[in-house]
Amino acid sequence: MMVKHISGLLLLSLLLACNTPQNSSSNSKQLPQEMSEYNPPIELEETERPKNIILMIGDGMGLTQITAGMYVNGNTLHLEEFPVVGLHKSYSSDNLVTDSAAGATAFSAGRKTYNGAIGVDPDTTSLYTILEEAEDQGMATGLVSTSTIVHATPASFIAHQPRRSMYEAIAADFLETEIDLFIGGGKKYFDRRKDNRDLLEELSNKGYYVSSYFEQKLTDLRPNPNKNLAFLTADSDPLTYEQGRTYLKPASEIACDFLDKRGAQDGFFLMIEGSQIDWGGHANNTDFDNSIGAVLDFAKADGNTLVIVTADHETGGFAINPGSTQDSIIGAFTSDYHTAALIPVFAYGPGAQLFAGIYENTAIYHRMRQAFGFGEIAAGE
Ligand code: ZN
Ligand code: MG
Repeated sequence: MMVKHISGLLLLSLLLACNTPQNSSSNSKQLPQEMSEYNPPIELEETERPKNIILMIGDGMGLTQITAGMYVNGNTLHLEEFPVVGLHKSYSSDNLVTDSAAGATAFSAGRKTYNGAIGVDPDTTSLYTILEEAEDQGMATGLVSTSTIVHATPASFIAHQPRRSMYEAIAADFLETEIDLFIGGGKKYFDRRKDNRDLLEELSNKGYYVSSYFEQKLTDLRPNPNKNLAFLTADSDPLTYEQGRTYLKPASEIACDFLDKRGAQDGFFLMIEGSQIDWGGHANNTDFDNSIGAVLDFAKADGNTLVIVTADHETGGFAINPGSTQDSIIGAFTSDYHTAALIPVFAYGPGAQLFAGIYENTAIYHRMRQAFGFGEIAAGE
C-alpha cells in the first residue's frame, strides 16, 4: 500500500525551480561545471571488447525505487547479478533536475543539453547518436519501449528535434535511419498524421516488416531476420503493467534474438526502456527486473554482450518511511517531478569495468563507444 505525502511548500518551491529558466553561463553557482572525460582511466584490450551492447533505461528509477522493488520482490533483484556498479550525475545543461529528453540525449550522444531536447545540442544542432553510429558501422540496431516509441527516451537515440512534444516529426525521423527493430506504442503518430503521410506504409515500402497490436499479439510474432522490423504496441501510450501490459520481457527476448541474428557479423546496439517506473510503482519495477533477467540470460549464453542498466533520473524524491515492512512499503515523496540525485549504473559482461566509479551521465555514451572500439568521429557527422 503506497501512501503519498507531499509537502505543499516544498513542492511549490521545487515546481518553481523547474519552471524558472536558468542561465548557466551568467552564474557559475547555478549549475555544476561538467567534468570533461573523454579518456576514461581504463584501457580495454581488443579481446575485452563486447560485440553487442544492450543499454536498459528504467525511466525515473532511482536508488529508492530499486530498493522498494527489491524488498517487495522478496529481497532480491536481477540487478544483484551485476558485478560492476557506478553512479552518474544526471543534471542537464539548463537545469540541475533533468527531464527524460536531456537525460536520454546525454546517453545517446554524449552531450548535456536543455530539458526537452531530442538528440540536439543546446543550440538545437543535431547530434550524432550512438545508434546512428552503430548503424553506420554496419551493426544491427534496435529500440524497445513501454511508452510510445516517439517518447523522449527512445526518441533521443534516433531523432533530432528541438522539442520533445513534436511526436509526428520524431516519428518521421525513424524513416531517416535503417534501424533494424523498434517496438513501442504510438501508432497514431505514424499513420494518422497532420501531413497525411503514412509512415507505416513508407516503412513497409523500405522493406520493413510492419505489424501492430491491431493485427497480432507481440508474443505471436516470429520475425524474419532477413527484414527490418517495426511493431507498434498501442495507438498512443501503452497500458501500465497493472492494467495488463506485459510485453516488455517478451519484447526484450524477441529483440535480443532478432538482433543477434541481424548482427551476427558485426554485433548490435539495443536500447530497452522500462517506462513508467516513476513513483516507485512496484509492478512496473518488477516488470523491468524480469526483463533485465531475460536480457541477462541472453548475455550469459552469448558471452559477448555488455549489458548496462541505469535510469535517466530519480522521480519524486521517493523515500521508504518508518513503519514500512518488506511487503508493505510506506512511501513518501518530496516532489511530483524528477529530482537531481546521483543515479546508479549496473554493468555486466565484457567492458563492464568501464562503468565503475562516479561520472557524468554523458560518460555513459563515451564509455559505450570506447567499449565498441569506435574511433574519433569525423567532423561534420
Ligand atoms: Zn525520465
Ligand atoms: Mg521515458
